[in-house]
Amino acid sequence: MAYTIAIDGPAAAGKGTISKAIASHYGFHHLDTGLLYRAIGAQVLQGHDAVDAAKALVAEDLDPSRLRTPDVADAASQVAVIPDVRSALTEFQRRFARRMPGAVLDGRDIGTVICPDAEAKLFVTASAEVRAERRFRELSENGHTESLAEVLADVKARDARDSERTTSPLRPARDAIHIDTSDLSIDEAVAAAIAVIDARRD
Ligand code: C5P
Repeated sequence: MAYTIAIDGPAAAGKGTISKAIASHYGFHHLDTGLLYRAIGAQVLQGHDAVDAAKALVAEDLDPSRLRTPDVADAASQVAVIPDVRSALTEFQRRFARRMPGAVLDGRDIGTVICPDAEAKLFVTASAEVRAERRFRELSENGHTESLAEVLADVKARDARDSERTTSPLRPARDAIHIDTSDLSIDEAVAAAIAVIDARRD
């Protein structure tokens, strides 16, 4: 049986970094499910229909370098409220979750909707201010010119849209372990996550 680790939380809480590190620690596959929604958002910005794009999505569409822009992030959170888009992506994610010897999936609804039976579930958070600061630094390093205030406004708008939507809103699974990364370094956050998973595996 494959071992599935579900990691959910808001934008820029550190899910991606933690998930990648955990996957490499255990030798598991990793899927950043935000890329699925970003790929569809990018297609919508090019004039395509969101549901058609979701049904036709292929692995080659998931090139992160093209998809990590504020415009695409915003478009992603808009297509993510459409139930038919979400259901078109469900089977792909569930199939990935069963890959041997195990898989780490990070997103918003992995522990609640996609993999409710995941062996380990984490809910990774940080304050909106800390998350905006991190995203701002990342964007500046990649040549983007948004101000910190704009990034904070984007983070809050995306939080609201992700948490308030009717279909698969962002919320912790009842059995998820919470990790607040506001005051943790990357290494500390990864160590905390590994400790939680090791405790579950024992
Ligand atoms: O995680 P990331 O910031 O790349 O996600 C982009 C957007 O995709 C999120 O703001 C959210 O609206 C949507 N998303 C989602 N469910 C997931 C992953 C991402 O709704 N499992």
